[in-house]
Amino acid sequence: MKRLVVLGGGESGVGTALLGKAKGFKVFVSDSGKIKETYKDVLIHNEIEFEECTHSEEKILKATLVMKSPGIPDKVALIKKITAQGIPVVSEIEFAATYTKATIVGITGSNGKTTTASLTHHVLSQELEVGLAGNIGDSFAKQVLEKDYANYVLEISSFQLDGIIDFKPNIAVLTNITPDHLDRYDYDFEKYIASKFRIAENQTKADYFIYDADDPVIVEWLKQHPVQSTLLPFSLTKVIENGAYLDNNKIKVTIDNNQIIMPTANLALEGKHNIKNAMAATTVAHLLKIRKQTIRESLENFQGVEHRLEHVLKINKVQYINDSKATNVNATYYALESMDTPTVWIVGGTDKGNDYQELYQFVNEKVKAIICLGVDNEKLMKNFGGMVDIIVETQYMSEAVKIAYKIAQAGDSVLLSPACASFDLFENYEDRGRQFKEAVRNL
Ligand code: ADP
Repeated sequence: MKRLVVLGGGESGVGTALLGKAKGFKVFVSDSGKIKETYKDVLIHNEIEFEECTHSEEKILKATLVMKSPGIPDKVALIKKITAQGIPVVSEIEFAATYTKATIVGITGSNGKTTTASLTHHVLSQELEVGLAGNIGDSFAKQVLEKDYANYVLEISSFQLDGIIDFKPNIAVLTNITPDHLDRYDYDFEKYIASKFRIAENQTKADYFIYDADDPVIVEWLKQHPVQSTLLPFSLTKVIENGAYLDNNKIKVTIDNNQIIMPTANLALEGKHNIKNAMAATTVAHLLKIRKQTIRESLENFQGVEHRLEHVLKINKVQYINDSKATNVNATYYALESMDTPTVWIVGGTDKGNDYQELYQFVNEKVKAIICLGVDNEKLMKNFGGMVDIIVETQYMSEAVKIAYKIAQAGDSVLLSPACASFDLFENYEDRGRQFKEAVRNL
């Protein structure tokens, strides 16, 4: 009997276990930490064997196939032992994709994955049966088992791409590449780039590769490492014949001489980065033959995603914006770029080796006060201390918001866009965003 060992009993692990069992594997789930009660219930109910707070190596090494949750690095001793024995270690997308004939849209990049995947799903779901999975929502494997949609939009991280063998999306989207998660790539940016590009590695001429033609890292890599699929670039600065570009505040997307035009003023999401995300989503929708009117309408009425430049409340004519998901400098760059009012900026957290220089211009132009919200704010003080009149430190969200409230005047905005991870003071970025929203509501 084929034995599937699933490492990690979270959303993707439990989904994979269910699909594996349905496909005739003897399944064993092993998690070095505690498994959530809800997931344990599912495993027990489906008579799937599991263990928690330990890895029984002997049992694991009997596997025919191992599915590893993306949170587990390849470097850990157990994974090394498994691969040394010649047992394939794959990710959920690799495993689940072998059991569906659906059209797959795979979206990756350093920033904008969730936004672009959600937006694309929103547009496609107006006319197609389409699941949204990957790093978002219900497990892909579980959806393949239970729903078997004709189409999927998958948000795909580089860690998932590290565990593919044959996986290929029919349509791939690469939003951008900036240094992130380098700890998992031996601090080698090239390795991280190569990992992102694996999204196109199994594609053929019949597939499509949509990418940001303004991103120097992507463009340079493509020159050296051409992909097989049909290229559909998008750009804010260049005219693009086949693909998407910006012309007089209108998005123009052309595929095989068939063009769709959309004024950017009508887009629900603000900011230049969201014009790019909209271009990518529109290109996918145009490829999948969604009607032009439907595409335009759904880009207008998209509700946005929580913690991504989310407009919380307006109090005394001051707009409060939650961009807690901005956990790196590039994301904050686009947040500050999109501000068109004087801004009180709440920033800080666990620094990932940030280089703040690219933010200087926006801080000089738009930021009237900075509130540093982190355990260690020294680097922020050093970078921005001389640039604004007011710069203060706190370790409490409620206090940060109260200070912002005192400083901000009618017509200003208060922006939480930390450019840092949240783990010094919060559970995660969602927790940080929720605390911000609660503090704003309490004002
Ligand atoms: P991901 O899923 O890749 O982390 P999100 O859509 O969750 O991306 O967005 C993360 C952060 O990056 C948010 O602060 C968001 O406003 C910003 N962002 C969204 N799209 C882009 C983009 N195309 N380029 C740069 N930053 C972006």
